[in-house]
Amino acid sequence: MAGILQVPLFSDETLPSWVARLARANGKLSSFSFCGDVGVDFSGMLLGRPAEIEMLASVTGRASCELTSHALVFGAGHHVQIANETVSKKFMRKNQLAFCPKCFAEDDVGNGGETDTRRYWRKSWLMSDARVCVVHGCQLEGLPPHSRLHDLCQVLDRNSIAVAGCISAPVHAEPSLVDKFIVERLAGNVSHGPLLDGIPLGAAIHTARLLGVALSHGSEQAVTQLSKEEVALSTNKGMSVLRSGAPSVRIALDSIVNPHATGIYFAYGRLANLLIRNTSDEYQTIKDLFIEHASGRFILKGERHSADNKTWTSATLLARATGSTKDKMRRRLYETGITTSLNAEAVPVSAVRDLLNEDPTEIVKAKTACENYRLRQGDV
Ligand SMILES: [Zn+2]
Repeated sequence: MAGILQVPLFSDETLPSWVARLARANGKLSSFSFCGDVGVDFSGMLLGRPAEIEMLASVTGRASCELTSHALVFGAGHHVQIANETVSKKFMRKNQLAFCPKCFAEDDVGNGGETDTRRYWRKSWLMSDARVCVVHGCQLEGLPPHSRLHDLCQVLDRNSIAVAGCISAPVHAEPSLVDKFIVERLAGNVSHGPLLDGIPLGAAIHTARLLGVALSHGSEQAVTQLSKEEVALSTNKGMSVLRSGAPSVRIALDSIVNPHATGIYFAYGRLANLLIRNTSDEYQTIKDLFIEHASGRFILKGERHSADNKTWTSATLLARATGSTKDKMRRRLYETGITTSLNAEAVPVSAVRDLLNEDPTEIVKAKTACENYRLRQGDV
């Protein structure tokens, strides 16, 4: 197909949207037939495969790295790479167009070219947590799910009456912190504080959701049992905490933690499940904060976290280090109110200093006991 007519590629546009408009500009009714004509595998393009992006770049005279930054790159797992952000598929709208009526209205009058090539699909509309347009302060409207093989222009053709109805009656709404965060991050803007900037987009939304739900509805509340509105409000609350940084997260964890729990899962509920069991690097920044908070309150069980118990020692190791017997040490800890039972083994390091403060030598020994405990936790 020689002499391809070009359409502009907008900075916040998805690659499949651009290809759909390109097809229309070149007289094709679908991306599928356009891709076939220029030797690009349509499904491969939708999946962001490098070979198809290369081919598309060569036939349109654009740089492949430019096209890649607009593509949805599906990997082997459950993640999608979009504009240098990693997002789990479960946070994306699947084969469903959500759009801002005012953005489309502006496209119609502001963009050049044939009328059916003017509207384009913004990257942020792919995210299911994007609910309000940050440019127009207007609610995003959703169309019914479409076939995976239908492109943007086909979807707009099929839903032209519904779309026109939305354009004639846009619904005013205030963009939330989450709406703004999504748009800004997908535009490459990382200026949301050192904590949030260190967390990939998908993990940030996920953490904000669980943190916010725990703060608003309790740590055992299942997200799936809440309404969409409640989830959105909670996610925004969690996002506000993350945006305020590590001290705010610690305060939030203080209010979530169950002080009567004896184990980490009961203490933090579903948030603990997400962070402790998750082995993905995406959550590491927030996980470190969580572990720091938890290890100040509970002994972390299991090999993976034994080194994180910096704030605990044991009655057995204190007895060994100070030349006492285990029973005597346990009684002393109980009588001074450091432990709540004569059988308690876990001892907060902070209390050890008070217990032994009359004898500096014992403090040194106790420190050793703390160190040993971390290394030998499995023995006691
Ligand atoms: Zn808009």
